[in-house]
Amino acid sequence: MTLTAPDPAIPGTTWQHATTIVVRGEPAGQGAISFLGKGRGAKHTNEKTLKPWRRAIVLAARDATGAHGYTDWGGICLTCRIKKDQHGLYANVPTAADIAVTVPKPKTAPKRKRSWPITRYSHDIDHHARACLDALSESGVIRDDSQITELAIRKVYPNEHHDALSTPGAVIRLYTLTGADTMTTTTVTRSDR
Ligand SMILES: [Zn+2]
Repeated sequence: MTLTAPDPAIPGTTWQHATTIVVRGEPAGQGAISFLGKGRGAKHTNEKTLKPWRRAIVLAARDATGAHGYTDWGGICLTCRIKKDQHGLYANVPTAADIAVTVPKPKTAPKRKRSWPITRYSHDIDHHARACLDALSESGVIRDDSQITELAIRKVYPNEHHDALSTPGAVIRLYTLTGADTMTTTTVTRSDR
């Protein structure tokens, strides 16, 4: 699958498929925070399910790409000696993400008919995006989720969409803008004004 409506790239640039990451596990959204009381900080209300899900994304992302996480060693990465603000397999480049999250189908849902995950049980779609993008940063595949300039995300039940898995999990496709580097893009935009 490709992005259906990518932002028109300037002449000479194209969105290029960078990687497809397949994650297995029960998806959890990230967003709801509960405060523990004065001076005790805060935590995600669903920490028990969110942690293993984020871990699964990090490991699947590294598996698919060979990326590694940043380990600080006096301002550079202990593993590859790259500075933190440049660290990431795809760093400092406009990136588009296309995500399909397969959530468990409740036993009460019709078995043979397509249906859609619209109950609270399936989590908010923006919370799914948050969990996926944060985990991608942590994995070392991208530098930071601020470099994501386009995002398409859907929630589906197993086998009910062409990007749905047969069991819960997610398919994450990443595209990077290539053909002109970010600096060139900036220069062209400025001279157009
Ligand atoms: Zn490194």
